[in-house]
Formats: sequence, C-alpha cells, structure tokens
Amino acid sequence: SAPLLKVDNLTTHFHTSRGDVQAVRGVSFDVKPGEILGIVGESGSGKSITCLSVLGLLKANGEVVDGSADFEGKQLTGLSDKDLRAIRGDDIAMIFQDPMTSLNPTLTVGEQLIETIVAHKPVSRGEARKRALELFELVKIPSAASRLDNYPHEFSGGMRQRVMIAMALTCDPKLLIADEPTTALDVTIQRQILLLLKDLQEKLGMAIILITHDLGVIAEVADRILVMYGGMVMETGDVYDVFESPQHPYTTGLLDSIPDVRSHKKERLTPIPGSPPDMLRPPEGCPFAPRCPHAMQQCLEAMPPLFERPNAKPTVHEARCWLHHDDAPDSLKAIFKAP
Ligand code: SF4
Ligand code: MG
Repeated sequence: SAPLLKVDNLTTHFHTSRGDVQAVRGVSFDVKPGEILGIVGESGSGKSITCLSVLGLLKANGEVVDGSADFEGKQLTGLSDKDLRAIRGDDIAMIFQDPMTSLNPTLTVGEQLIETIVAHKPVSRGEARKRALELFELVKIPSAASRLDNYPHEFSGGMRQRVMIAMALTCDPKLLIADEPTTALDVTIQRQILLLLKDLQEKLGMAIILITHDLGVIAEVADRILVMYGGMVMETGDVYDVFESPQHPYTTGLLDSIPDVRSHKKERLTPIPGSPPDMLRPPEGCPFAPRCPHAMQQCLEAMPPLFERPNAKPTVHEARCWLHHDDAPDSLKAIFKAP
C-alpha cells in the first residue's frame, strides 16, 4: 500500500555561533498505514530531531536544509505554520516523555480533554465529555468517569501518560509519534503503556512512530525498525530480521547492551564504549568508526552507502556498513552471515 508518511533525504541543521550542527543527515524512510515503526538510537543520534523536522516543530535555530517529508502525498516541508498546525491537530499527533510538561496543572484532565475536543469538532460540551469518557476507557484508566475530574498531579506517571495518549487520540490521528513515551516509567508500567499502544494500533488502525533509546522497547511492539546514529540511518528492516540477523556493528552493540529479550535475562550487559560523534564536525567516513571493533581504513575515508541484504523479503533489510561491500575481507564479512 502507499506510504502514509514518506521522508526523503531529510537534512536538518541547527545554526549556532560555533557553526552548523548537522543533526540529521540525509534520512529517508516511510511509514505505512497502520504499522509501528520503531526509531532507535542513543541520545543525540537525530531520532527526535527527524520527527520534529517532519512536524515543523524545530527550535528557531533549526532548519530543514534539504530533503522532504510527504504525508498522504502532501508535502509537509515548506508548509506554513498554520497549515502544519492543522495537520498536526487533525492527522498526526505526538506524545512526549514527560506528560506533565504538556498538561495544564490548573485544569482537570477532563476539562483539558473537552477543550481539545470542542476545538477540533463541532460538538457540544456534553457530547465532548461523553467522548472524553470513551477515550479514558479506551486507554484503560480505571474508574474513568470519576477520574475525569482529577487534576494532572493526582495521577501516577503511568496514568498521566495514558491521559496524554487519550489527549492525542482526540483528533483520531492516522499517525501517532511517541517520543520516549515510557522512558520515565518503571519497567512494569513501561510494559503496560507499550502494550496499550500496540492495542490501540490494532483497534484504531493508526500508524505509530515509536522513538526510543531502548531496543527492548522496540522488540515488544514494533513491526519495523530504523536504527539511527550520527544523524543517519544505520540499519533498517523488519524487527524480527534485525533482531535475529543484525547487519550493522552499531545494532549489534545495542543488542549486546540490553538484557536478552528472548531469554528474559535481567542483567545489564556491555554498553558500547566511546561516545557519539561531534555533529558540528561529523567525520567524513562512517560515523561509527571510532567505536567500531571492525573499522577498516576505508571506513575512516568514505561514507558507506546502505547495502541491501539479498534475501530478506518482502521487507527491505539494509545496513550502512562497508563490511557488506564485495571487497571487504571474507573473515569480516562472515560476521553478518545469517546463522
Ligand atoms: Fe564499522 Fe566500518 Fe561498518 Fe562503520 S563501515 S560500522 S566502521 S565496519
Ligand atoms: Mg530525544
């Protein structure tokens, strides 16, 4: 089916007194209707900025300097603030890590939901309250009817995130962008919120972009995954393919740093040593080279393209790594041979 969102060669800079921070460098991907795309990477990898660029929500010194984003065939990049706001209110909704910053502490959550609903739809306040209650039930807030009259601080972190999700659903979005929605929550609550998102995706058929630094989160719910590093896409593919046969040393490093999702072992494993590149002066070659255990001379000199894995169909599985080049030493190529 035609993609809902199509991002092509998106390139975003932040203009600073020290020069341009190249936060997003030629990112391309699409999101199909009803799918969950997980975008994963360490902080500073460009994953949030990619989505903020798409939505026209960059800070004043941020600029999309190249590339485009299409939503249902409509070009988002270059739209006026007014038109973008209309699309954000209608078709695309976003939720963030800390619901408290997006909720008004002086109004009951019911009041805030009702206000959002009547701002979008020609309905009476009574009808809006009915809809608010339905949404509270949809996101499984216990004793929904009485909870509508509570203030944000009267909810636990997990319940507050449910309120935010209900708020995001007021416009019946076709796409929900969730940026680290569970990062502030403890593991049990985190899991409940992820399962809720999955459940909503199935019930409502909306697409979700789930941004996270935690591959474990992706494993729970995503259909497809985009691994970002240094403002670029390092690997993309079906979530099963990527977890079973990662094709990029950075992905392998991320996988080694989370508890084994299949065996449900609890211990934290090795984090990847080193730190992400300085995006003021990103390296010419592979951005991961300084941290990569397999780096070759070529990696320092030239940016690897995305190499497509030959037999991963129907979902494209590709990785930006010179180890997939025909000329790479056989001993190193063997690293990525499927088991
Ligand atoms: Fe490592 Fe080279 Fe592949 Fe980059 S291109 S991930 S440095 S092997
Ligand atoms: Mg972020």
